[in-house]
Amino acid sequence: MFDINSITRDNIRLLTPYSSARDEFKGNEGIFLDANENPFNEPYNRYPDPLQWEVKEKLAELKKVDPGQVFLGNGSDEAIDLLIRAFCEPHRDNIVSISPSYGMYQVAADINAVDFIKVPLNEDYTLDVSRIRQAANSNTRLIMLCSPNNPTANSFGAAEMLSLADGFNGLLVVDEAYIDFSKQPSLISRLDKYKNLVILQTFSKAWGLAGLRLGIAYASKEIIAILNKIKYPYNVNVMTQRLALEALADTKGKENWVSELLLQRKYLIEMFSGLKLTLRIYPSDANFILVKVPDARKIYDYLINRKIIIRDRSKVAMCEGCLRITVGNKYENKALYDALTEYDKVN
Ligand SMILES: *Cc1c(COP(=O)(O)O)cnc(C)c1O
Repeated sequence: MFDINSITRDNIRLLTPYSSARDEFKGNEGIFLDANENPFNEPYNRYPDPLQWEVKEKLAELKKVDPGQVFLGNGSDEAIDLLIRAFCEPHRDNIVSISPSYGMYQVAADINAVDFIKVPLNEDYTLDVSRIRQAANSNTRLIMLCSPNNPTANSFGAAEMLSLADGFNGLLVVDEAYIDFSKQPSLISRLDKYKNLVILQTFSKAWGLAGLRLGIAYASKEIIAILNKIKYPYNVNVMTQRLALEALADTKGKENWVSELLLQRKYLIEMFSGLKLTLRIYPSDANFILVKVPDARKIYDYLINRKIIIRDRSKVAMCEGCLRITVGNKYENKALYDALTEYDKVN
């Protein structure tokens, strides 16, 4: 049986968390003279709910989990950082992850002085499960995957990913930032079976709320309780909680954006298929595509001159010659098409 206490850092396990005014009195009504707030300037004069229960209850209903299985943070970055700080002892423990993937995992590990072991994906960007398992040792506390993966745009198989959680005395963290654009279902429904599984999602992509900074972690109540214990007391502000609730009240809006972006992704792929500069378009399960071209830097600069900004990923191992292009709206994609058609003519 997996026991979260066995991998929690001693100082975190023994920590007495800060107890805020809002932790000590939980009611909504009354005369509040307990938090040294200013009585004027409603509603921003009040500290937010430290555990964001209203937002969590809506999310829990939507995702069919218990509200206690939801952590909310200042972007996914906060959840990533807290997972490392709670479970990885600096200068001793390590994280096993994949390459290429989201650069933030390594940065967060480096900041926390935790070894970051990168296992390359196979040539076709699939997961090398046996190599990942071999790379993990008794000091591995987290295995971090990203599916659909950034920047390769593909998803990994659920069974393959979950096999890494089996018998692993650490956490399997699966970043599902792009899951709404994927044909694969989320692994959230597997949390009941896999007690060492953590799923990361975000309001930054499909929900169109990158500016709010709201990231989500779903896991067992025990894991979530540890993240709550070490987070900043008021880590998600009043405005963010309000706007998240508004967004969650209108899931149709998000679904419409996702359908439109999936349609636009199809057009974008068709458009790149017809261009001379395209050497290869990688299959995408996300709201971006990865395209191999003869001279990535030259095309990147050419587009910058036309005020179209894409991401040059050609310096990333296994992404040599690749550009990453976010799926935009139809006008943005058309502008990209026109610019690249012109490029094709003169190159
Ligand atoms: C965009 C992205 C996120 C989102 O991060 P936030 O901090 O929630 O904005 C998370 N993971 C990956 C792989 C991403 O590409």
